[in-house]
Amino acid sequence: MIFGLSLHDLVVKYGHTYGMISLRYILFAGPLFLVFYVWKKKDLFKFKIQQKFPENKHIIREIGYSLLSLSIFSLVATLVFIARKHGYTKMYINFGDHSIGYFFFSVIAFILIHDTYFYWTHRAMHWKRIYRYVHKVHHMSTDPTPWAAFAFHPLEAIVEVGILPLMVFLIPIHPLAILCWVLYQSGMNVLGHLGFELFPSGFVGGTITKWHNTSTHHNMHHKNVNCNYGLYYNFWDRILGTNHAHYEDEFEKVKTRVKQANEPEMEQELTESLAN
Ligand SMILES: [Zn+2]
Ligand SMILES: [Zn+2]
Repeated sequence: MIFGLSLHDLVVKYGHTYGMISLRYILFAGPLFLVFYVWKKKDLFKFKIQQKFPENKHIIREIGYSLLSLSIFSLVATLVFIARKHGYTKMYINFGDHSIGYFFFSVIAFILIHDTYFYWTHRAMHWKRIYRYVHKVHHMSTDPTPWAAFAFHPLEAIVEVGILPLMVFLIPIHPLAILCWVLYQSGMNVLGHLGFELFPSGFVGGTITKWHNTSTHHNMHHKNVNCNYGLYYNFWDRILGTNHAHYEDEFEKVKTRVKQANEPEMEQELTESLAN
C-alpha cells in the first residue's frame, strides 16, 4: 500500500487522470487546428497574426512536449486526489457545505489568483539565469499553434501545475469549481496560442475589453519574448508597463487586413444587389 492505496489502484488512478487530461487537450486544440491550419487554411489566412505557417517539425515538438507536461500535471493531480482522500486539503465534496455564492466566488478567486501566479512565475522564468533551463522550450515556438498550449520543459510544467496544490490548500473549493477553472484555462490557453486574431477591431482600445487578453497579445510574446507576460487579463502588463509598445497597432493591423480582404466581396455583393 502507498498512501493508503494499492499500487494497482494508484496506477489506474494515474492512467485515468492522464487519459482525461490528454483528451481535454485534444478536444480543445484539435478542432481549432483542423479548422485554422488544415480545412480553412486559405480562407482564414487574413486572420493570421504572423502571415506564415510553422513547419510540421514545430507542431510535432509542441504536441510531444505538451503530452510530456500533461504526464506531470496528472501526477500532481493524482497526489492532490490522495491528499484530499486523507483530508489534507480544503476541498469539499458535499455541495451544500458552502453557499452557491461562495461557489462562484471560489471560481473567480481561482482565476484571478492564477492570473497573478502566472504573471509573476512567468516573469521569473524569463530571468536570464534560469530562462534557458526552464522556459526556453516554450519559446522554441516563435509562431505557436494551439498544440503549443502545454509545450513546456518538465521543470516549467511543475511550476505551471503548482497553482493546483496551492489553491486546494488555500481556500475551500469544490471539484466542480476546479473543473470550471480548468475549462476556462484550457480555452484561454489554446486561444493565446491560436495564431489567429478573432476579437473585433477596437477590442484592445475598449475601456473594459482592453483588460482582457487576446491571441495577438500572447502571439507577440512568442515572437518578441520580453513583453506581454500575462495570461487571462491585461492587468499586470498594463500597470507594470510590460505590454509591447505596438500591441494595439499589431492587433489592428490584422483587423485592417481582414477588412480590406472583405471589401472586394462587399463591393461585388453591392453590385449584384444593384443589378437585381
Ligand atoms: Zn515566456
Ligand atoms: Zn505561450
